[in-house]
Amino acid sequence: NAPKQRHAYQSDVARLRKIVINSLYSHRDVFLRELISNANDALEKLRLTSLTEPQVLSGAENMNITIKVEKDEQGNGRIIIRDTGIGMTPEELSTNLGTLAKSGTSEFLSRAESDTTGNGNLIGAFGLGFYSSFLVADRVEVASVAAKSSNNPNPAQYVFSSGADENSFEIFPDPRGNTLGRGTEITLHLKPDALEYGDTNTIIDLVNKHSSFSTSFPIYLYTTRMEMVPDEEAQTEAKPAEEKSEVEEAEKPAADDDEAVVEDAEEKSAEEKREPRLKPITVEEWIQLNSQPPIWMRDPKAVTDEEYETFYQATFKDYEKPHAWYHFAGDSGSGVSFRAIIYVPSRLDDKYWQNPLESVTKDIRLMVKRVFITSDLGEEALPKWANWVKVVVDAEDLPLNVSRETLQSTQFLKQLKGIITKRLLQLLSRIRDEDPEKWDKVQEVYGNVFKLGAVEDFKNREKLASLVRFATNQRNSTTLDEYLENKKKGQSQIFYLADMGKSPSELAKSVFIEKLHARGYEVLLLGDPLDEVFITNIRRWKKIPFQDVAKAGLKFGDEDLSPEEEKEEQALLTEKYKPLIEWLRKEVRVKGAARDVVISNRLVTSSCAIVADESGYTANLEKLISSSHA
Ligand code: ADP
Ligand code: MG
Repeated sequence: NAPKQRHAYQSDVARLRKIVINSLYSHRDVFLRELISNANDALEKLRLTSLTEPQVLSGAENMNITIKVEKDEQGNGRIIIRDTGIGMTPEELSTNLGTLAKSGTSEFLSRAESDTTGNGNLIGAFGLGFYSSFLVADRVEVASVAAKSSNNPNPAQYVFSSGADENSFEIFPDPRGNTLGRGTEITLHLKPDALEYGDTNTIIDLVNKHSSFSTSFPIYLYTTRMEMVPDEEAQTEAKPAEEKSEVEEAEKPAADDDEAVVEDAEEKSAEEKREPRLKPITVEEWIQLNSQPPIWMRDPKAVTDEEYETFYQATFKDYEKPHAWYHFAGDSGSGVSFRAIIYVPSRLDDKYWQNPLESVTKDIRLMVKRVFITSDLGEEALPKWANWVKVVVDAEDLPLNVSRETLQSTQFLKQLKGIITKRLLQLLSRIRDEDPEKWDKVQEVYGNVFKLGAVEDFKNREKLASLVRFATNQRNSTTLDEYLENKKKGQSQIFYLADMGKSPSELAKSVFIEKLHARGYEVLLLGDPLDEVFITNIRRWKKIPFQDVAKAGLKFGDEDLSPEEEKEEQALLTEKYKPLIEWLRKEVRVKGAARDVVISNRLVTSSCAIVADESGYTANLEKLISSSHA
C-alpha cells in the first residue's frame, strides 16, 4: 500500500468545524441536504464540462446519486453517499475539503452567533456544507475519482479521511483500487448517538423534506425487503398442515370471492398438497426518492408554501425565507415556452447599497428541460434595479447544449428579461393591493429600490413610481395615487417638504407645513436623500407637478374661488351652523381658550383648527414660549 499523507487543517477550518459541530447540533439533519447539494453540483459541473470535453463522461455510465445505509454486527452504522459527478483529484481533495474556499469566515462567525432563524441554513449559505458531515459522523471517508480529461488522463481513486476530533486529515490511494470509475463516494461512520440516520426510513423522510426538488438528477436509495418465493427443494415433500409455519399461512391469499366460498373441501386439500413450499428471501432494490416532478413543473395550486420556501432556501443558499414568489408559465414570444418561479428575498445583499446598480450576485437559474445550464445570464438579464431577484426558469424549446454565447445571440434572453421584469412588477403591485402586512415588510427592504428604479428604468417608471410611498403630515404612508385621491378641490400641485436626514415626525413640525396642515392639505415628508432624487427626476405625477413647500411658487388652489363666491359660501354656512357657533363662542370666551369661533372653508379632514391672528404667534411659537416658561 502507498504511504498515507497526513495534512494539518488550515487553522480556520479546525475552528469552524468546531462551531459547526457545536452550534448546529439541533439541526444535524442538514448534513444530508448539504451532501446531496454537493453531489448535485458535481453532476452539474460534469454535464457542463462534457459540452466542450466529452471524454469526461467516460468511467461511469449514468449521472446519478445513490445512498446506502449499512449496519455491522457490532451495531456500528454507516451511510454511503455516492455520485457520478466530476470527482476530485488528490490535490482537490486536499484543497476543497481541507481549506476554506470562501472568504466569508468572519461573517459566518458573527452570523453563527446571532442566528435566530434556528434552521441551520447558515452552513449551506456560507459554503461549510461538507463539514456538516461531522454533525452525525465521528469519521468521514471521501473516495473520489476525478473525471478523465486532458489534464487528468489516468484517473486514480484517492481517499480523504478525517475524524471529527482530529486536527488533521489523511489523503491516500484507495486500497480497493478504482471501484468508482468516476465521481465521489462519501462514507459517514455514524456517531453512537446518531444511529437513527442509518435507517432507510429516516433517509427517505429527510430527502423528501429537504432535497426532493433540489436536484434534477435521480437519487436512489438501496433498500432490502423480505419476500416469499417457492422453495424448489422442499416442493416434493408435502408436509402435514399443522407443521406449516405462520409466515406461509399469512402468505396465502384470503378466500374473499364467491368462488372460494363455494369451493369443495376435498378439492381444496388436494390443491394444498400440490402447492409449492415457500421460503423467505431478501430482495435488494434501488428505489428512486425524487421521482416527483420538480417544483416548477408542478401545478402551483398543488405546491405548498413550505415547499416553495424550502426550495428557495436550498436553491439560493439563503438561510432566511423569501418574502414572496410568483410561479407562472410563459412564452417568450419567439416560440420558447418556459416555466418560472421568481422570488423576492427577505433581505438585500449587504453590498447592494455600496454600489446599488452593480454589485449583487445575479441569480437567474436557467434550465432547459430540467437540466441546469447557467445561473449567469450576463449584464443584460434584468434592469439594474431588479438584479436582486432570484429566479428559476426552465425552457422547453431550447437545445440542451445551448451555450451562453448562443443564448445571447437569440431573442430569448431579451424577451425573458422583459417577462421577468413585468411579472415581478405584477407581483409587487399585487402585494401592495392585497396584503398590507406583507407590503410593509417589502417596503422596509425595497422602498428605496423602487425610487431608484423609477429614476433608472424609464420604461417601467410609471409602475415603479406607483410602488413608492411616503410619510405625510396626515398619515404614515401614502402612494402618489392615494395622494391625488386625497387632494383638495382646486389643488394643482403635489406638496412636499424635503429635509435630508430628518424623520417624518420632525418634518411634520416644520413651520412650512403648518399653514398647509391647518388648511387640510397633505404634504409629503421627505427625509431620505433618494426621495429628492426621485421627485426631481419624476417631476410630476399624472400631470400634476411637485412643489417644494419651502420654495417660491406655492399655490393653494382654493384661491380659485372668486372673493364674492367665497363670501357667499361663508355666509351660507354661517347661517346654517348659527346655533352651534354661538354656543361654542360662549364656551370658549368664558374659559378664555380662544378669542372667536368662525366658520372656515379651509379644512377638509379636520373638524376644527386653532389658528393664530395674522399678527399673533403661530401655534408652534406658542408651544416654544410656554415650554421655555415651564
Ligand atoms: P460549497 O459546496 O459551498 O463549495 P462545501 O463545503 O459543501 O462548500 O464543499 C466544498 C468543496 O468540496 C466544493 O466546492 C467542491 O469543490 C468539493 N466537493 C464537495 N463535495 C463534492 C462532490 N461530491 N464531488 C466533487 N466535489 C465535491
Ligand atoms: Mg456545498
